[in-house]
Amino acid sequence: MEKILDGKTLSSKIKNELKTEIKTFMIKPCLTVIQIGNDEASNIYIESKRKACEETGIWFKHVKYDSFVDKLEVINKIKELNSDEYVDGILLQLPLPNGFDAKNIIKYINPSKDVDGLTDISVGKLVNNKNCLVSCTPLGIIRLLEEYNIELEGKHVVIVGRSNLVGKPLMSLCLNKNATVTVCHSKTVNLEKITKEADILIVAVGHKKLITENMVKENCVVIDVGINRADGKIYGDVDYNNVYNKASYITPVPGGVGPMTVAMLLKNVVKSYKSRNTSK
Ligand code: NAD
Repeated sequence: MEKILDGKTLSSKIKNELKTEIKTFMIKPCLTVIQIGNDEASNIYIESKRKACEETGIWFKHVKYDSFVDKLEVINKIKELNSDEYVDGILLQLPLPNGFDAKNIIKYINPSKDVDGLTDISVGKLVNNKNCLVSCTPLGIIRLLEEYNIELEGKHVVIVGRSNLVGKPLMSLCLNKNATVTVCHSKTVNLEKITKEADILIVAVGHKKLITENMVKENCVVIDVGINRADGKIYGDVDYNNVYNKASYITPVPGGVGPMTVAMLLKNVVKSYKSRNTSK
């Protein structure tokens, strides 16, 4: 049986569907990415977002500031984008340079354009299981599980990592789908004991090969979110070659969660576009 959860193929399928849908719109949807500073990984991610938008027919705008920019200038730009009827998604590329508090900038993004699902309103709605824009990586993971008919209801989902971008929204999405959820983090004691209990193990830490074969139970579904760059290659958080033997399904890195994240970003932009202005 094929074990690999192929995010690359599924993301291409989703992008093609979106492309067809966008062709029917009178005006193109628009995503604006705000970048502060010149983080190398951020530059790569922004380029992949640009490419995906251009392939799909979404108008991509990149607003780039140097790391000395006044916070107020960024906030004023966000306010301008909030009231620009042609802007459907506003995304603040993280991480920010030292001295900036992301929360104090993100809170100015209109929740209806918050395609990263990070404003307090988006987070609160997600917790209450209400319709909202949800963080792209968790959304992509759920979509990938659905594609392979992997049920969440009644399953023990163990999430390693509790970031606002991945772990926490994923916890809410899994709870909303009636999974039993355990969230582990840097202060968790005896991680191995908990990960071994997982029916579905989702790892988002940023630590190469944190999860080894002895930490997963037989037939576990393993989702590896991690992106770790070493010796010119990209590695996940899971010791893939060894865990592969035990897992019933597993995501590769690259080619698993990463492409799904980009596909869900495009989906969020289109969702925002449709919900705000059906007459466009
Ligand atoms: P983060 O640094 O914000 O959070 C890391 C989390 O890991 C924290 O909650 C921390 O408590 C936990 N942690 C740290 N050490 C631990 C340990 N030894 N045991 C258990 N938990 C531990 O990171 P993030 O933004 O959530 O990203 C995590 C990883 O996922 C990174 O490698 C990042 O590059 C990657 N990522 C990938 C995608 C994608 O699309 N594939 C998207 C977002 C993030």
